[in-house]
Amino acid sequence: MSIMKGKKGLIMGVANERSIAWGIAKILADHGAELAFSFQNESFNKRLTPLMVSIKSDKAFECDVSKPSSDLNSIENMFKNISKIWDNIDFVVHALAYSDKEELKGKYVNCSRENFLNSLDISAFSFTRIAKSTLPLMSAKGGSLLTLSYLGAERTTPNYNVMGVAKSALEASIKYLAMDLGKNKIRVNALSAGPVKTLAGAAISGARHVFRYSENVAPLKFNPQLNEVGNAALYLTSELSSGVTGNVHHVDGGLHSVAIPKQEDLV
Ligand code: NAD
Repeated sequence: MSIMKGKKGLIMGVANERSIAWGIAKILADHGAELAFSFQNESFNKRLTPLMVSIKSDKAFECDVSKPSSDLNSIENMFKNISKIWDNIDFVVHALAYSDKEELKGKYVNCSRENFLNSLDISAFSFTRIAKSTLPLMSAKGGSLLTLSYLGAERTTPNYNVMGVAKSALEASIKYLAMDLGKNKIRVNALSAGPVKTLAGAAISGARHVFRYSENVAPLKFNPQLNEVGNAALYLTSELSSGVTGNVHHVDGGLHSVAIPKQEDLV
């Protein structure tokens, strides 16, 4: 199992062992990748450290994507620090998002300007900043940038509200970044995962209803497991997908393909 042998990559967004970022990290490590991690602040680092030990990784960088480039914990400064330990990077996994929990319920029309800007900055624009910062380390050999999206980018889902708008912006960014960076052999894609029980997932009001509906209605009749999202990430970060860019790949049991569910599935 060494498809990622010799490949180096950064994983952003591990909060705990249930995080999608961790599901991806485990699969990539199992397939031979050398991984570095970023953590939002010290309290996340405490939970990340034992996980890193379990896959024999020792490179972690503090990075809060909402910080300006002049800040020590900014995206830009993290990549400067990464360039001190690695000459090149083969992939980056961006698995992070944020919106005020109070606005992940009720109506989108009530979204505040402050939370709109903050949610789009952290959940969407950070990926563009990362793409730019990665260039010096990736442009010689090419590589893969991968982010995480959700069906709420394409159509409404209950209480997803401004996160849906942020994910739409993220999915549009993928296409523009894929065009800009294609000549550098850098591929840019997203995984649109079905509902997974994580900290971020629990912040969305009514998550239980969405979880149940999705597993009842999806053609495969289940929501994705972390390893299934991880396996798709293995494809998109490795040479297996060398011809794929600007793509949103759904790992949702097929839910995105259903317009009107069968009546017997609506229980
Ligand atoms: P999670 O709570 O495990 O991870 C969210 C991560 O975002 C945390 O590690 C947190 O530190 C990070 N983060 C938030 N604000 C940050 C900031 N300012 N700077 C740096 N990091 C920050 O949740 P998850 O569900 O694994 O989320 C990972 C990604 O997957 C997100 O983009 C989420 O929208 C997406 N996603 C989740 C689901 C789901 O059902 N859980 C479905 C589809 C897509």
